[in-house]
Amino acid sequence: MLSERAKNIKPSPTLAIDAKAKAMKAAGVDVVNFGVGEPDFDTPENIKEAAIKAIKDGFTKYTPVGGIDPLKDAIIEKFRKDNGLEYSREEVIVSCGAKHSLYNIAQALYGNGDEVIIPAPYWVSYPDQVILNDATPVFVKTYEKDKFILKADALKSHITKKTKAIILNSPSNPTGLTYDRKTLEDIASIALEHNLYVISDEIYEKLTYNGFVHTSIASLGSEIKNRTLIVNGLSKAYAMTGWRIGYTAGPKDIIKAMTNIQSQSTSNPTSIAQKAAVEALTGPQDFIKTMLAEFDKRRKYLVSELNSIPGISCLTPTGAFYAFPNTSKLYGKQADGKKISSSSGLALHLLEKANVALVPGDAFGNDNHIRLSYATSMENIGKGVKRIREAVSGLK
Ligand SMILES: *Cc1c(COP(=O)(O)O)cnc(C)c1O
Repeated sequence: MLSERAKNIKPSPTLAIDAKAKAMKAAGVDVVNFGVGEPDFDTPENIKEAAIKAIKDGFTKYTPVGGIDPLKDAIIEKFRKDNGLEYSREEVIVSCGAKHSLYNIAQALYGNGDEVIIPAPYWVSYPDQVILNDATPVFVKTYEKDKFILKADALKSHITKKTKAIILNSPSNPTGLTYDRKTLEDIASIALEHNLYVISDEIYEKLTYNGFVHTSIASLGSEIKNRTLIVNGLSKAYAMTGWRIGYTAGPKDIIKAMTNIQSQSTSNPTSIAQKAAVEALTGPQDFIKTMLAEFDKRRKYLVSELNSIPGISCLTPTGAFYAFPNTSKLYGKQADGKKISSSSGLALHLLEKANVALVPGDAFGNDNHIRLSYATSMENIGKGVKRIREAVSGLK
């Protein structure tokens, strides 16, 4: 018999769609995949070389559980430079990807009876990680008219005596939108007033457009810094999803608990990947600029194409590499006598009839939308939107 815990958990829906698209591709179908949540760029050469050197040097044994000092120091320097934040080694832990960082936090903080506030739409793993740790996710709906930014009143009305934490994600996956400083100040003062922890997932920090400047909520004052756990990682900014390096900065006692938890589960993140991460953080940073310039071109093209399809409207994303168009006007229409009535119905129709893979918004807690990743070539984007346009015009 499986545990209650195992029965309550569903597999990551984004990975599921990706798997189906890859299976179709393997079977010879020409699928355009807008489902992927990782850069289509290769990991930069200098980073690969650092890993190869680590292997050759025999840096292939256990390391300290929470990461090697040179990596912690590189992370500390990143916080100082990019966010104006001071942390010590005891306030930083390196884990096997930011997803693992978030999981360690969930293990260290949440328990039976706790409520964790998650603004919706949300990244798919947040609710399930809360559930896996016996706590209850409390969703706060955000609205397209507000650019999916959490409003202070909506937050306040969801806080109870049981509320333990709130999870923020800016730039956001799935919306591609970003929190401004003023909103973060409002959220910080509410969090402090109610003694909440803030989990701030900043994995897309480096990927913003039109000169948008990312603010970390922890940088708004020492009080809120003491209540915030910043989660970040190498996956997105350095095209290193497979290397599995993420990190957390926050109060010493929580970092210590996370380190204990990690010591009983994965132990240290891969030694070789840690050396590569030191190079990523301390080596040349121009790779990010190059990747970002390409994402920016694709973003503009994809969004303007989507907005020209009748029945679809899309806000202009300011960060990450996702577009999150509203497709609700298409629901109720028919395809081959079958009614499309939801984002997953639409996603399935587009996958089967147009060979286009994307993720239905209901996976992220908003059924009126679908998510398209533009971490794919301009050529693919052009081909994909043409297919979507045709498929949508065939809906009656
Ligand atoms: C990709 C992603 C992560 C996890 O990244 P890792 O590969 O585990 O480092 C965390 N949060 C969000 C919002 C993401 O999109």
